[in-house]
Amino acid sequence: MRKGKVDLKNCTIEELEKFVQDLGEQKFRGKQIFSWIHKGIETIDKMTNLSKEFRNKLKENAYIGNLAIQDRWISQIDGTRKYLFLLEDGHIIESVLMKYDYGNSVCVSSQVGCRMGCQFCASTLEGMVRNLTAGEILDQILMIQKDIGERISHVVLMGSGEPLDNYEEVLRFLQCIHHPAGLNISLRNITLSTCGLVPQILDLAEKMLPITLAVSLHAPNDTLRNQLIPMNRRYPLAVLLNACKKYAEKTKRRITFEYALIQNVNDEKVHAKELAGKIKGILSHVNLIPLNPIEERKWKGAGQEKARQFQKILRERGIEATIRRELGRDIQAACGQLRRKHIKQKETEIQYQKSLPGEAGSSNYS
Ligand code: SAH
Repeated sequence: MRKGKVDLKNCTIEELEKFVQDLGEQKFRGKQIFSWIHKGIETIDKMTNLSKEFRNKLKENAYIGNLAIQDRWISQIDGTRKYLFLLEDGHIIESVLMKYDYGNSVCVSSQVGCRMGCQFCASTLEGMVRNLTAGEILDQILMIQKDIGERISHVVLMGSGEPLDNYEEVLRFLQCIHHPAGLNISLRNITLSTCGLVPQILDLAEKMLPITLAVSLHAPNDTLRNQLIPMNRRYPLAVLLNACKKYAEKTKRRITFEYALIQNVNDEKVHAKELAGKIKGILSHVNLIPLNPIEERKWKGAGQEKARQFQKILRERGIEATIRRELGRDIQAACGQLRRKHIKQKETEIQYQKSLPGEAGSSNYS
């Protein structure tokens, strides 16, 4: 985003090939640059298989945008790591590393903030600031990979933001991340979570990308879902589920329905039965997540017993359902909470500085 220059981290291999050709170089140099970028180098000078002359020419026309680690928490229980990253324009985003038996998975943000307005979610409380570029989404993975010194094999687009509201950049990100000359992460190991943007879901179905689609349902009917997820007023449940059905039929990929259990709101037997009736026949399974309470809202998460009861009812009706294991309990924070904490802390610091005697704006000496 630096004026007049191209961020090399934000380019697909085809774009880099064209870019180097426009600079009078041979096409294969594009692939070399792509490889370097995806190895995580931070400056053009580290591309040692390019001549010094060409590197200088590159520097005149391009740069590598880099995130910086602002803060990091490591769970002593299970090794989960939460990161706050600083973007080049001073905004903050968060990402999470989760360690599983099958490999390392990173949960990335796709926007700074979010404009979806889901009532239980911390990411959306201050609205959306801006979309992330494909390069900024990618860099969350590159930075974490470097920080832990181990390969990242799985990615979930489930951090702050609505990935389908930043569709173009997310598609570019997907195009880059699975390229064999880059991180080579299989699209099958990538999960994209959405609160239900129907046109993009249908477009994804047409594109036949073998990613896993996760859809945040959280309610079995429009009355309840309208209250929790404003996007439901635009795309009501029947329309959304119809799109999900088409997606599953077209791609033969099983959809994950996410359902955050909120105490006394959506966690009763009647909700489980209604949900089972609505999603029956769609190639899918349900992921039950006890709500992670945020301090700005009154809601609490349902207890284990309620979660198991909900799961049992779904299973009895032939719907596969799992209860999500909570990782990083000791470093807490649902989506967006760490970022918010950071913003609040900064506000307090600014207020504190403003009130210091003798500082600019103080009237102590009048
Ligand atoms: N915008 C996308 C992805 C980001 S949120 C979406 O809505 O799917 C990733 C998941 O976390 C979504 O299912 C979201 O509904 C859920 N979520 C948000 N806040 C939560 C909270 N406080 N407790 C539990 N799940 C939450």
